[in-house]
Amino acid sequence: MSFTNAAVRSSASNLLTSLSTLNSALLPLSPLRVGEALRHKDSLIGNILANIFDVVSGQAKAATHSPITVGSSVTRRDDGTKLTTIYIDVQANFRVDGGTLPTGVSSASEARAIERAIERDFSKSYTDPGGNTVRYVTNVNMTVGQPESDTRAQFIMVAAGDSRLGGGAGTLGRAPGFEHGRIAYISDQAGARTAPHEFGHLAGLRHTAQVDQGCVTGPGISIDNLMSQTGCSATSHQIERQQLQQIYHNPVFR
Ligand SMILES: [Zn+2]
Repeated sequence: MSFTNAAVRSSASNLLTSLSTLNSALLPLSPLRVGEALRHKDSLIGNILANIFDVVSGQAKAATHSPITVGSSVTRRDDGTKLTTIYIDVQANFRVDGGTLPTGVSSASEARAIERAIERDFSKSYTDPGGNTVRYVTNVNMTVGQPESDTRAQFIMVAAGDSRLGGGAGTLGRAPGFEHGRIAYISDQAGARTAPHEFGHLAGLRHTAQVDQGCVTGPGISIDNLMSQTGCSATSHQIERQQLQQIYHNPVFR
């Protein structure tokens, strides 16, 4: 096994980015809370640690084929305050592979609805008391009906109960790769929340509250969250700033 200098430099730089994110996530926590966070596998910190270990082991972290990419730009306004824009760009495809679209809804209009739902839930703006703004802008470019390819995030509609949804008759969606997977199956009975929730998994987010774990959340995240399982919160579209930060700092997307 051999590593090129560029690969080593890239891993080192990814590791530093992850460590600095970890550091800022740990800072506000008391030692007790840190221990609690580390034990909680769905926490932000748990996610960051998982990313670091992926970087250390060199597991397929090549960003070149990722359907999700991130970037940023900083501008200074006339009044001296800073506007930081963080871009989350998504190349995706919607395909019907079972099930029935509602009457009057075409594949194209369903694809647009998913595109808009993801863009809405993952675009947010935060202005600090000093007037500096950090704006997250998520942009989805969704094709329709393309066959599965190696480069796009696939949103595939299947019939309710399809085995690709992984069992449970009431399962509305499933992202088999879970974090950093490329395929999300969506039941034809799914609601408006399912596609953006599955996108969250493709973007590396874990459940913030899971039914089989008693709907307990990690530090700083309320149960009222898009990434809570439906049994814990059926309607929330809330995404917290730390979840957007986690996507931005994910070495997979750079
Ligand atoms: Zn989920």
